[in-house]
Amino acid sequence: MSELPRYRFAPSPTGFFHVGGARTALYNWALTLRTGGTFVLRIEDTDESRNSPQWTQGIIDAMSWLGIDASHPQFEGPYFQSANADKHVAAAHQLYEQGAAYWCDMTSEQIQERAKETGKQGYDGFSRDRGLEPAPGRVLRFRVPEGATVVQDLVRGDVEFSNETIEDFVLLRGNGTPMFLLANVVDDIEMRITHVVRAEEHLPNTPKQQLIWSALGKSAPIWAHVPVLVNEQRKKLSKRRDKVALEQYREEGILADAMVNYLMTLGWAPAGDTEIVPWSQMVEEFRLENVNHSPAFFDVKKLTAFNGEYIRALSPELFVLACAPFLQQGPWPTDRFDAEVFDQVAPLVQTRVATLSEVPAMIDFFFLDEPAMDEAAWNKTMTVDFARDVVADFCEAVRDVDWSHDALKEHLEKWSTERELKLGKTQAPIRVAITGRTVGPPLFESIEILGRDETIKRLTTALSRMG
Ligand code: GLU
Repeated sequence: MSELPRYRFAPSPTGFFHVGGARTALYNWALTLRTGGTFVLRIEDTDESRNSPQWTQGIIDAMSWLGIDASHPQFEGPYFQSANADKHVAAAHQLYEQGAAYWCDMTSEQIQERAKETGKQGYDGFSRDRGLEPAPGRVLRFRVPEGATVVQDLVRGDVEFSNETIEDFVLLRGNGTPMFLLANVVDDIEMRITHVVRAEEHLPNTPKQQLIWSALGKSAPIWAHVPVLVNEQRKKLSKRRDKVALEQYREEGILADAMVNYLMTLGWAPAGDTEIVPWSQMVEEFRLENVNHSPAFFDVKKLTAFNGEYIRALSPELFVLACAPFLQQGPWPTDRFDAEVFDQVAPLVQTRVATLSEVPAMIDFFFLDEPAMDEAAWNKTMTVDFARDVVADFCEAVRDVDWSHDALKEHLEKWSTERELKLGKTQAPIRVAITGRTVGPPLFESIEILGRDETIKRLTTALSRMG
């Protein structure tokens, strides 16, 4: 029986968890679940100046939000690369002992000078045959053999690199610490990784890493480099320019399921004519061979549209539950919030928001003593010629109309028809008087929930302001 695949996700904890990293993690997780293999989480924490435990925790929390559950039987880790430093160094010495690496004492200035002399860029292998012994300050370099290195990549096909273009790269720094290229390979070997699925930016490292695998007597893993994510200007997503932190999307009210679905479609599409499909289907259908190799546009508008669909598909109970953290940030006094009122209001907003963070502003007028007045909305709607009349009439009518949204609507409809005005127009001043805005949840349903007394109060306040 052939061995089950072992995938891995190997983030560096140097900042907020990036949406690109999240997609890589999900691809690995989907493959793990379908194949019955293992998903190894390895935190590559060897860059001490940039690491922080806070970032590591952020990665773990974000993965769990996406449903990559550390307690799942197919999940292994987290392992920490820093704990393996001895093994990285031992592998480097093994490569030296077997002649696959050599010591070099050249400074970068000396390398540059030689490059000027020879007219060739970079390090030219000057110390290859000088037989230098290890000493402080000397780096250990890999002796790149002649020939070509072919990286067999499930996404990109065979990619051939001429070894002439690969300089004798550094394995150990002058202070004895291992370089990323080496540590990453030694860990993958140690963790019996069979599939390396990672971002395209690592493709140029891959021939070097494949040479290390082979020099250490191992056959290389199956490689797959997934396409880079770009913004609207087709530039690579960057944390300086673009919103890339998964955390931020979560805070803005993107649902985890929508995020997972959207990330999976960046470079891949499920069969059929909709991209919005359940996770189980994505697990079933996802294949690296079907991942596109052109850059994938991370389209926030599309993500938001996905999210709107996911929000509408929630049961009313789940929608209320999902809103809870956002309601805590509402602009109303805490003791004015009324969960029962929200339960009634929730279905009115569920169909009208694309992110959960839009909810508080849509319903704040239920929990404020006075609506937060949008002055521009006031100026636009309260100056039309019929505004005063309609508010005055409605204020009278609501005193004894049957308290139902149908009856409220019927009344205003009748008033409007008699004056040959459209309901859409006559509603506007009433909506502004009651909610403070020109847009919001359905008006008559909202008024019904708000109650007769509060409605009269708001309409009266508006009338006195109109003079
Ligand atoms: N630690 C590397 C990174 O975060 C990943 C290396 C890999 O996946 O091989 O970019």
